[in-house]
Amino acid sequence: MNLETIISKDKLYYMNTYGDRIPVSFSYGKGINLWDTDDNKYYDFLGGIAVNALGYSHPKLVKALHTQIEKLIHTSNLYYVSSQAHLAEMLVNNSCAEKVFFCNSGAEANEGAIKLARIYSRKKGFESKYEIVTLKNSFHGRTLATLAATGQEKYQNPYTPLLPSFKHVTMNNMQELEEAVSDKTCAIMIELIQGEGGVHPLSPDYVKKIVELCEKWNALLIVDEIQTGVGRTGKLFAYEHYDIQPDIFTLAKALGGGVPIGALCAKKEVASSFEPGDHGTTFGGNPLACTAGLTVLNIIFQEHVLENADKMGHYFMEQLIKLKNSKPEVIAEVRGMGLIIGIELKNDIAKEVSNKMLNKGFLIGTVGSKILRLLPPLIIDKDDIDLFIMALDGSL
Ligand SMILES: *Cc1c(COP(=O)(O)O)cnc(C)c1O
Repeated sequence: MNLETIISKDKLYYMNTYGDRIPVSFSYGKGINLWDTDDNKYYDFLGGIAVNALGYSHPKLVKALHTQIEKLIHTSNLYYVSSQAHLAEMLVNNSCAEKVFFCNSGAEANEGAIKLARIYSRKKGFESKYEIVTLKNSFHGRTLATLAATGQEKYQNPYTPLLPSFKHVTMNNMQELEEAVSDKTCAIMIELIQGEGGVHPLSPDYVKKIVELCEKWNALLIVDEIQTGVGRTGKLFAYEHYDIQPDIFTLAKALGGGVPIGALCAKKEVASSFEPGDHGTTFGGNPLACTAGLTVLNIIFQEHVLENADKMGHYFMEQLIKLKNSKPEVIAEVRGMGLIIGIELKNDIAKEVSNKMLNKGFLIGTVGSKILRLLPPLIIDKDDIDLFIMALDGSL
């Protein structure tokens, strides 16, 4: 189908949840490059919103998925699943978690985390310990419970009344946090770097305070690593940068390299609150999704992807700071960690800049009217970054 036909069918038949999309449709991809229906080439610096950590058509991932599809796609969780057990083992061996549960998306993983925190308190005998403290400007998903957790009214307003018992506090504000946490708090749930909120890292002191308050009030620490996990920040998980060990953390986006999979990861003592029948899923952890997860992690380790994300993250930041210094009237701030990067502009030109970049063949994201967001594949190299910086320089 050509682009016009696709757009006209979309407008007729698809629910209008995405409004006027960027008028491009892609046919295939390789590495960090995509080609559209007219065979124009693009450099993808948004990576399918942090999903395509290994870029497109990674030969080992394609081969592993191909082989798996020919054998089995799905069997259900009535039976044991080899790749599910193996992927759980691999996540446990490489994180602070001791038990894992697989689902199909980020929101579902967070939904599981919220349920686990509540059932944990309930089974410990604390009937009125069910509140969860989250941050303003956070993003935890679009289901009703994760919307209540998400601290952004624009997502919540059409769906009130929301699930009660979520409290939102301003990030990096110690006093608000201290006032919000009490003996009713069953968990504090955070993104260490707010992604959808505009790439805002939490300060180490604030995170330390969160850990202290969790200990003081016997609350669980839930870290939403859906965007930051699986190498995005240059380490496998962002919590490693903060030298903390969450009781629960959640993964999705990059884990399947494009195949939908989410993971709820927890300490053994917490995870044991889920007993048979307390939680479940039909699709979650199926042979195809878990083969994807296993293969992605294997490639990350074998091909030194974490080291590359770390190195390229530093190089990218250096180049962006140079650009900022040469254009102080346009760029207000650059921030991020590894390959999650935000560029805050002084004026409301983010959409315009992103359109100019698109015309030059560079895909980027925006948050609000001032922030450019970059989440390139973790396999990016210096030449890609140099090309990008040149194009951005021209577009600004
Ligand atoms: C993307 C994202 C989610 C939601 O994931 P879905 O797969 O869209 O449900 C939740 N939390 C964070 C931090 C995210 O970046």
